Amino acid sequence: MAAALAAREAGVSDVLLLERDQHLGGILNQCIHPGFGLHHFKEELTGPQYADRFARRVREDHGIEVSLCSFVVKLTKDRELSYLRPGALEEVKAGAVILATGCRERTREMIPIPGSRPAGVYPAGLAQKMVNMEGWIPGTEAVIVGSGDIGLIMARRMALEGVKVKAVVEIQKSSRGLVRNVVQCLEDFGIPLYFQHRIAMIRGRDRVERVDVVKVDDQFRDLPGSGFSIDCDTVLVSVGLIPENELLEMAGARLDPKANTPVAEKVNLTSIPGVFACGNACKVYDLVDWVTRDSELAGRMAADYLGAGARA
Ligand SMILES: Cc1cc2nc3c(=O)[nH]c(=O)nc-3n(C[C@H](O)[C@H](O)[C@H](O)COP(=O)(O)OP(=O)(O)OC[C@H]3O[C@@H](n4cnc5c(N)ncnc54)[C@H](O)[C@@H]3O)c2cc1C
Repeated sequence: MAAALAAREAGVSDVLLLERDQHLGGILNQCIHPGFGLHHFKEELTGPQYADRFARRVREDHGIEVSLCSFVVKLTKDRELSYLRPGALEEVKAGAVILATGCRERTREMIPIPGSRPAGVYPAGLAQKMVNMEGWIPGTEAVIVGSGDIGLIMARRMALEGVKVKAVVEIQKSSRGLVRNVVQCLEDFGIPLYFQHRIAMIRGRDRVERVDVVKVDDQFRDLPGSGFSIDCDTVLVSVGLIPENELLEMAGARLDPKANTPVAEKVNLTSIPGVFACGNACKVYDLVDWVTRDSELAGRMAADYLGAGARA
């Protein structure tokens, strides 16, 4: 939305905003905690409030056509897009394309955590969507893997919903999350945080029954005799995000194989002229304010590109 609005302000006459979901706003819609917008709006908003400020402006702008439930399934280097919307496969050729496709979560298999494959193991962001948007509580006793901001926020969220959060297990020596989140989400709720520990095994047949935890040394090797078990029926895995760039890959753009981000000389650029990337698709951001700032820049870059194309 920020990129679309900035492109319009920079003189682009027609913007088509394609969103696979039923709502605009992306991940912000499920982030009902405060902490958004301190830099951009100089006030503290929830995720939905932050998204709504942009959605209102988008709706009022007659140069932006919004197409919801529209899943882009194909992109070529010539900026031809195909997207599925209910009942139709549409095709469009754009003068410039900005990909703002966000991230997906790393899963249990990617760390990996050994053990059986019972129900009750969820990526933390998925659990956040279940709790905050769909009204499902995933379990009664939880262990959280990873102490980044998403893991910390979900520990508090689950505790507020009456789930007994038995531990947050972190393989590193310290949390990568904000200090305020460690204090407000764990310490204030008496939730133990185990640094330099990992889940060695998930146990359970139909449903998670317990996890085995072990302490590791500085080289992440298990320390013999340090293991213990925690009974739980739910494991939330919060171990990082991967930029969602399959469309860019399909179009033949260069991607960093490790980070899955576009390889280009500047933020928002890709190796394909006229195709830009912004937000978490470009790099994983901590704060939405910086997503907005750089996405506005992407909108202006696309407008410049279109201007240059028109003059050529
Ligand atoms: C749990 C959590 C807590 C956070 N807490 C804070 C906080 O307290 N303060 C803060 O400032 N920031 C916070 N952030 C970070 C910030 O919210 C995000 O970085 C930012 O909102 C990401 O925006 P985005 O537009 O790049 O991606 P997203 O919000 O993920 O949006 C991507 C959109 O693209 C759509 N899409 C993807 N692929 C396609 C396709 N093929 N076709 C059509 N549509 C597609 C998706 O449906 C989605 O709507 C938090 C993030 C998370 C996950």
